[in-house]
Amino acid sequence: MAGATSSCIFCQIARSSSSSTTILHADDKVVAFPDINPSSFRHYLVIPVEHIATVKDLRRTTEDHTLVNHMFNVGQMLLSRDAPNSIQYRFGFHQPPFNSVNHLHLHCMALPYVPRWRRIKYSSLGPLGGFIEAHKLLERLKP
Ligand SMILES: [Zn+2]
Ligand SMILES: [Zn+2]
Repeated sequence: MAGATSSCIFCQIARSSSSSTTILHADDKVVAFPDINPSSFRHYLVIPVEHIATVKDLRRTTEDHTLVNHMFNVGQMLLSRDAPNSIQYRFGFHQPPFNSVNHLHLHCMALPYVPRWRRIKYSSLGPLGGFIEAHKLLERLKP
C-alpha cells in the first residue's frame, strides 16, 4: 500500500486538515463526508483513514474485508438517518480508470439521481465494469 501523500485531498480530509469539509462520521478507521459534486438526493463518501489507492489495492484478507464492511455499515447508517424515505440506496466503488480520486472511497447514494443522467456514472454495466457494488466487492474479498 502506498503511503499517504500531502497532495491527496482525501488524506487531508481524513486528517481533518481540510476545514471546509463537513465531517459526518469519523472513527479510527474511516471518515465520511458529503460528495462535493453530489449526483443524488443524498450523496456521501466513506473513505479509509489509511491511504489505499483503489479497489485493486485491496486483498482477500480479513483485514481488508473488515474495513470495506465497516465502510459499508457507516454509509448505510448515515443514509438511513438522513434519507429514511429514499426510493433506493446504492453503495459502490469506481474501478480504475473510472475513479476520480486515487484514495479509496465508497459512494453512498440515496436516489433519485439529480440530474437523472448522472446514473451513467454509477452503472456497473459495460465491458470494463466501471462501478462495483459494495456487496459484490465484499463477496470478492471474502477470505
Ligand atoms: Zn489519500
Ligand atoms: Zn468515485
